Amino acid sequence: MGTKAVEILGVDAKKLIETLNKALADEWLAYYQYWVGAAVVQGPMRGAVAGELTQHAEEELGHAEMLVERIIQLGGTPLLTPQDWYKMTNCGYEAPTDPYVAVILDQNVKGEQCAIETYRAMMAFTKDGDPVTYNMALEILEDEIEHEEDLQAFVEDLETLKKRR
Ligand code: FE
Ligand code: FE
Ligand code: MG
Repeated sequence: MGTKAVEILGVDAKKLIETLNKALADEWLAYYQYWVGAAVVQGPMRGAVAGELTQHAEEELGHAEMLVERIIQLGGTPLLTPQDWYKMTNCGYEAPTDPYVAVILDQNVKGEQCAIETYRAMMAFTKDGDPVTYNMALEILEDEIEHEEDLQAFVEDLETLKKRR
């Protein structure tokens, strides 16, 4: 833990660590949803979509690493068991039981929209009292906004494909 880092906090440390751990749960579930979605996806443009899903999976894992680093700086304990992912998540998990590309894209768009809400709320909570977490949340938010658009671009292409046939 960084003692000075904790001392300068202008927000409740316990509440902040819980907020970070809840986002950590989301990131792990998002990681797996993308990773396994890339493995099973079927339908038009499956190669391009699988590539994008795999890239997003890696980026969600990067977000998890950023969150864990901040939790440790603040003297917190990152979630230690996968059971906690389900208990703590804001955004949940949507199993890709239907591997059709449009269904998987919709599930992941929903996840990104929830992630955008989560980081926007984290920014609101830290805006005045914790510029370090605020900046981190902003950096992650920018990625989640990019993710949403990447997925919605594929949804648009699928719609175009349908209309042109
Ligand atoms: Fe993420
Ligand atoms: Fe994302
Ligand atoms: Mg992308």
